[in-house]
Amino acid sequence: MVPGFERRKKEKMPVLAVCYDFDKTLSPYDMQAQGYIQSVGYEIEKFWEESNALARANEMDSNLAYMYKMIREAEGNFVLNRAALERYGAQVALFPGVREWFERIRAYGKEHNVIVEHYIISSGLREMIEGTEMAKNGAFEKIYASSFYFNERGVAEWPAQAINYTSKTQFLFRIEKGILDVNDPGVNEYIPPEDLRVPFRNMVYIGDSETDIPCMKLVNTYGGHSIGVYDPERQDKTKVFRMIRDRRIRYFVPADYTEGSELDTLIKAIIQKTAVYEILEDKHNQDMAETRSAAGER
Ligand SMILES: [Mg+2]
Repeated sequence: MVPGFERRKKEKMPVLAVCYDFDKTLSPYDMQAQGYIQSVGYEIEKFWEESNALARANEMDSNLAYMYKMIREAEGNFVLNRAALERYGAQVALFPGVREWFERIRAYGKEHNVIVEHYIISSGLREMIEGTEMAKNGAFEKIYASSFYFNERGVAEWPAQAINYTSKTQFLFRIEKGILDVNDPGVNEYIPPEDLRVPFRNMVYIGDSETDIPCMKLVNTYGGHSIGVYDPERQDKTKVFRMIRDRRIRYFVPADYTEGSELDTLIKAIIQKTAVYEILEDKHNQDMAETRSAAGER
């Protein structure tokens, strides 16, 4: 084991990891478009147009392009530091029920002997997500998102992490193995299936769009639960219809996190299924272990 990295071992109770995209999954809009873009004097559309044009012209990752543009456009307007980003994050609008969701679902899991952990996997900005009320209240086990390197004066200078749709999948493997630190190379070590902390069947991925497809596909393929959400006000189901037809997701629901909502019922059913299934899985593993030891194997 590489020293200095915290690694988590398999728990006595099953762990259900609920992973969320952020923009348009927990919040109705892109996080950058809820204060930052306006404060650098841009129309939202124009900011994204220019940022995407920069990406295309330079064969640049579109997340690196928006991060570059955020630094450039802040110049002369204000200091782009952690505090400014957290302030924008604190202003971000959330879908109904999001604020209370994480604690409530965790408590429901506990009642059913399932440890529920919430993870963010977003191409948005970690510093902004850290500024949200839920993050400050410790809702998330870990926030995987794009983030800046801040120089010695605390000003954003360079990308520390830029997370796009395919790199999002890396974090599912980290969660699976309990190797959560982004720099811990142990993520590629072999762990026998029965020792995995969060096997894929105990993962839920909630997202809204194309950028979530690799994660959804991975979770779905290995027996987990991918859920597509759509804006409960706009009721546009085009994307979720496409995703379910293409077998990216198993379910779709409005992004309504209030108690008694469709999503609430669905997650509770997944928790119950996990509780029961893992009792059977434990029994199987014990019987296998007994068989091996009777035969003098490890
Ligand atoms: Mg999204």
